[in-house]
Amino acid sequence: MIPAWLSDSTLEKIITKGELVVLTRNSPTTYYEGPDGPAGLEYDLAKMLADELGVKLKMIAAQNLSQVLAGVENGAADFAAAGLTITEDRKEFFRFGPPYQAITEQLIYNINNPRPGSIDDLNGTFEVVAYSSHNERLVKLKKQHPSLNWKENDELENEDLLQLVADDVLDYTMVDSNEFMLNQRFMLDLRAAFDIGEPQQLGWLFPKSKDNSLYDKVAAFFDKIRTSGDLTRLIERTYGHTKDFDYVGTLIFRRHVAQRLPRYRPFFEAAAKKYNLDWRLLAAMGYQESHWDPKAVSPTGVRGIMMLTLRTAAEMGIENRLKPESSIMGGAEYFSNSLQRIPDDIEEPDRTWMALAAYNIGYGHLEDARIITEQLDKDPRRWFDVKQSLPLLAKRKWYKNTRHGYARGWEPLQYVENIRSYYDILRWLEDSQQEKIREPDAFSILPQVP
Ligand code: GLU
Repeated sequence: MIPAWLSDSTLEKIITKGELVVLTRNSPTTYYEGPDGPAGLEYDLAKMLADELGVKLKMIAAQNLSQVLAGVENGAADFAAAGLTITEDRKEFFRFGPPYQAITEQLIYNINNPRPGSIDDLNGTFEVVAYSSHNERLVKLKKQHPSLNWKENDELENEDLLQLVADDVLDYTMVDSNEFMLNQRFMLDLRAAFDIGEPQQLGWLFPKSKDNSLYDKVAAFFDKIRTSGDLTRLIERTYGHTKDFDYVGTLIFRRHVAQRLPRYRPFFEAAAKKYNLDWRLLAAMGYQESHWDPKAVSPTGVRGIMMLTLRTAAEMGIENRLKPESSIMGGAEYFSNSLQRIPDDIEEPDRTWMALAAYNIGYGHLEDARIITEQLDKDPRRWFDVKQSLPLLAKRKWYKNTRHGYARGWEPLQYVENIRSYYDILRWLEDSQQEKIREPDAFSILPQVP
């Protein structure tokens, strides 16, 4: 007789074990340490699935793409969620879950060099990540473009290759549009020269197996989150603030980080410590308010690095708003109060974005926008939903029925999205000075894909 445990389906085994094991890559589009713990689209999706199954989630960050593929093949994980493109070659060895995000493959070059117009213009060093969808694509393209030459790099990941192009060490690389979008603001000399081929889809990667229990469950899960709008919300959480990328603004920001921030950083750090906040978030706020100019004055009478009104400064016990340390301390206290007023059922990071919106437009208006969000049958606990209601506060049809009335509701939107961008860059600058966070030993037992 077959013992009961042997007849269990893959899904039953996961539930019995109480753990879903997912293989991923450490990158901004997939999985990384966020300010409030693990983050990234793949993490968010996998966590949602694990919660639905009622099991714990274990994410394993592979060191490269070949380890992701090998790990799925060897059964080191239940599946891989790693921004993987659904390709014909991979389908021969694996199977893919439902497509969840469309991307294009892009040829990346450095603006200090001539822009290539097409594949036939490529004239220089060109590298792509080994075992990537890009390599697969180039192998196919080579048939029509015999002079196309590139190298498969089996040591570096796509972010490293982008850096090499930014440093002008390499002429071209090829990455997915979503990866490029998030990396571009850190590497200001990079541009996409052209898209290569038709849009592609990303999907989770499963081993080939006769057992469909987990695979079917995942298909149903994606159906559900697509219908509920959760999938769109999660994608927006990762990419939402990058759509209106501003090159000039970012260039100036980077210059100010080098020239102005060092003087004020100790004040941001001290204030963050006192109010249990992230100093980089306070610094991002300060930049949005005054570009770190302690003498900044606005026509409405707000002043100083954190642009406090006279009334707020008085409430926070600040005598001189133009003194950087006082302004920063006052701003931090005011923001901390704003954060504490946000209802408990709103989770991070939405909590922080809403507190920032409240800091900018006033708590009462934020509450009005949350009530409108509810009237529109959307979720007042999600920033993604509330930010769509905020601009309605400027329309009479809506504001005439609110408690606090008219507000320039589009302003907090821009305010919050700018701060998110500055904050991301500050975190990236700091992280890139430290070692990359990876899980070094998770894969030492796995053989490389030959
Ligand atoms: N989507 C790529 C792949 O499946 C990985 C991400 C990238 O290299 O841009 O190989």
